[in-house]
Amino acid sequence: MTKVIFIDVDNTLLDFDKCSEDAMLNTCLDFGITFKPEMFDAFKKINKGLWHRLENGEITKGELFDVRWVNVFGMFCIDVDGAAFETRFHDFLNVSAIPIDGAADALKYLASKYRVCVASNAPTCQQPLRMEKANMLQYIEKFFISEEIGHPKPQREFFDACFALLPDVTPDETVMIGDSLNADIRGARAYGIRTCWYNHDKIPYKGDEADMIIDKIADVKIVL
Ligand SMILES: [Mg+2]
Repeated sequence: MTKVIFIDVDNTLLDFDKCSEDAMLNTCLDFGITFKPEMFDAFKKINKGLWHRLENGEITKGELFDVRWVNVFGMFCIDVDGAAFETRFHDFLNVSAIPIDGAADALKYLASKYRVCVASNAPTCQQPLRMEKANMLQYIEKFFISEEIGHPKPQREFFDACFALLPDVTPDETVMIGDSLNADIRGARAYGIRTCWYNHDKIPYKGDEADMIIDKIADVKIVL
């Protein structure tokens, strides 16, 4: 019987693509860089690759933040102070809270049936604030944030720390919902947690790595 839901935030509840494009555009304005949509496409690609390496324990978050803007703007022959750009980008991102369509309603539904905990690899300072702005904080019992835990999803140690704080709950009484097959689904399944993959990017997929697959977050109401 399911008691607890672990749910990812970015591109599951909040629209990270829209939030980060807005934050990038505003940071470019501050830095005197003319923003072009193809720059955001480059960011998405480079950022995704770096997060994948972080999830696999190959780089730290500090290393990711140090290089991502240098790599993005390097593709457009623009020199930028990557660390300064990152700091300003975070100022904007910390207060961005554009929900995924149907996410608030889906979360309200989940919280009416289960205990709901956030499981996120994003910086500690961002998520509770952004969830509050999106009017979603009221549905969350606990925040499991990798920065505080010391290990990111999908690593085993991340889930060890979650269950240490949920002493009356076992993995098979838990469902992990998220948009990333690597960060959210594979690690949770290896831990014995049931999984619901939200295929946010509409990737053609015929595999069976998740127990449930949905292509709209509102469909949690059908499967859970
Ligand atoms: Mg995500």
